[in-house]
Amino acid sequence: MKTFENIDVKSVREAVSLLEKFQQQKKIAAVVGGGSEYLQLMKDHVVEPDYLINLKTIAALDYIKEESGAFRIGALAKLADIETHSGIQQKLLILSSAAGEAASPQIRNAGTIAGNLCQRPFCWYFRSANFTCLRKGGQICYTVTGDSRFHAILGAGPSYIVHPSDTAPALVALGAQIKIAGPAGEKTIPLEKFFVLPSVDYKRENILTPGEIVTEVIVPAPKTGSKGFYHKVRERLAWDHAIVAVAIVVESSAGIVRNARVVMGGVAPIPWRAAKAEDYLRGKKLDEGTARQAGEIALEGARPLKDNGYKVKIAQDLIQRGLLASV
Ligand SMILES: Cc1cc2nc3c(=O)[nH]c(=O)nc-3n(C[C@H](O)[C@H](O)[C@H](O)COP(=O)(O)OP(=O)(O)OC[C@H]3O[C@@H](n4cnc5c(N)ncnc54)[C@H](O)[C@@H]3O)c2cc1C
Repeated sequence: MKTFENIDVKSVREAVSLLEKFQQQKKIAAVVGGGSEYLQLMKDHVVEPDYLINLKTIAALDYIKEESGAFRIGALAKLADIETHSGIQQKLLILSSAAGEAASPQIRNAGTIAGNLCQRPFCWYFRSANFTCLRKGGQICYTVTGDSRFHAILGAGPSYIVHPSDTAPALVALGAQIKIAGPAGEKTIPLEKFFVLPSVDYKRENILTPGEIVTEVIVPAPKTGSKGFYHKVRERLAWDHAIVAVAIVVESSAGIVRNARVVMGGVAPIPWRAAKAEDYLRGKKLDEGTARQAGEIALEGARPLKDNGYKVKIAQDLIQRGLLASV
């Protein structure tokens, strides 16, 4: 690993001003929470920062609070704490499930919610120092001619990564917002607007600009009459990223859908909201037929690569199953 300097910061303001200072000095600096993902990239020589800004020393960012009908989750809240928080288990069960399905117990005990949302792709070409892929400044996305078993079927091109976070689809389904601090102050935006498609910029996965960090995730408690579903299909149960994950929140009364949010993980470079399927479901009675149709509509735009066509059927079936479990 290349030598670097670790800086333990005490406040968000200190972190932001250090990021700004190092950028002006043309030094490479990155923030870390648990470090469970970023340090691996360093060991693999995929990233080689001069400075690591350790956010874990900002005690004030590690919290989970319920306030005025919403949950406020500090950037440094650990996945294990989100999984086991009693209020989250009662009111946001799909978030607790998603956090509990991410990675391994050891990683969940160190990994933070901000790190989970900001983690880099787990594409094997991106993670290997032997490939200078498109996302690392190269000319091609090797997936197009290479091994594309675990890559994107929706919303991709020219890069075909899938967004690796389990919590992201659940949070988008729950209508979460994300708070960002930077040199220009603070802003709060809908989480679904945080992620960036490769057609917009294939070198990054989110909208953070130099100097900006995530400070909080805000999740409204679902409306009365809502039910949710989260399920992740993966190759190995021990720990593995999603082949397909589906997060659903349905508000209904007497079996009729008032509103549905259907979000997929593991199929696109961002948590993929199936907006057309959501529109189709509004006002419909949820039964086998409508649930199957919604699954088919959700995958209408799928463009599988040569090795990953199998994801289409898994996603359709999972959406059907999730919808029937959500009324
Ligand atoms: C073997 C392995 C298996 C995994 N499997 C899964 C899985 O199945 N599902 C899943 O969802 N995840 C999985 N992960 C990812 C894991 O969940 C993340 O490693 C963890 O959540 C990252 O949290 P962290 O705090 O350790 O992040 P770090 O390693 O500290 O940071 C990760 C990234 O986020 C950035 N970052 C961290 N905090 C902030 C912040 N406050 N503001 C802005 N940027 C920030 C860092 O700069 C870095 O780019 C896996 C990881 C590993 C190593």
